[in-house]
Amino acid sequence: MSAPPAPPQGGGDAVATRLAAWGEESRAAFAGARDPARMTVAVITLHRRVDEALAATIAGHKVQLACAKGCGYCCHLRVQVQPYEAFRLAEWLRRHFDAPRLERVISRLRANVAKTRELGEEGRKRANIACSLLGDDGACTAYEARPAQCRRYHSTTLDPCKAFHADPSRDDIESGMHEAVSHNADVIITQGRQAVRAAGLDDASIDMNVALLEALENPKALRRWKDGKKAFVPG
Ligand code: SF4
Repeated sequence: MSAPPAPPQGGGDAVATRLAAWGEESRAAFAGARDPARMTVAVITLHRRVDEALAATIAGHKVQLACAKGCGYCCHLRVQVQPYEAFRLAEWLRRHFDAPRLERVISRLRANVAKTRELGEEGRKRANIACSLLGDDGACTAYEARPAQCRRYHSTTLDPCKAFHADPSRDDIESGMHEAVSHNADVIITQGRQAVRAAGLDDASIDMNVALLEALENPKALRRWKDGKKAFVPG
């Protein structure tokens, strides 16, 4: 039995109500997620709830964000996703990118997966690797379907983003994230994961490059997930 999610940190009644309602909503949404169409709807709803919790907490705490379209520092960090987010992102890319564009993404994913495997878990945390979905203009090319971790990430100042980008080996840089904003987003994400586990499905975190490449190239991954098994088998 998993622990109940922590209570919200401020942001007003709208956040408290949304967070309280999402627990039940997420269980209903993910109960039918073995059906790919229902999984897509469940993930879209999860991402919408993360966006809503962020927006309400930012407004409630009057947080000033330094983030802007085209910044892209955080799109060089390691991104972890859950399997259902990788399947949703793969489905979105197949619908929105033509074949040559999708092939370019797949080649970038292959290169990033090779670098990630070479660096290992700890090395990857300390390396800048541009996300396979980062556009030449510094903006996300899959913004609508980006994972919860990308939605949650924010900063109140650019200084730590620039400093870590310049030297990712540093561990003395204080995060620019606002505590209540990231906490409330985490509550939504955790409730979603608990709902997925309650449905008997895999919610394990995995590197986005690894998961997305598998989701795009290996139809067995989705079948394994729907059967309640680990979606992605380490290669
Ligand atoms: S998915 Fe989009 S927002 Fe997330 S790291 Fe990649 S480019 Fe950035």
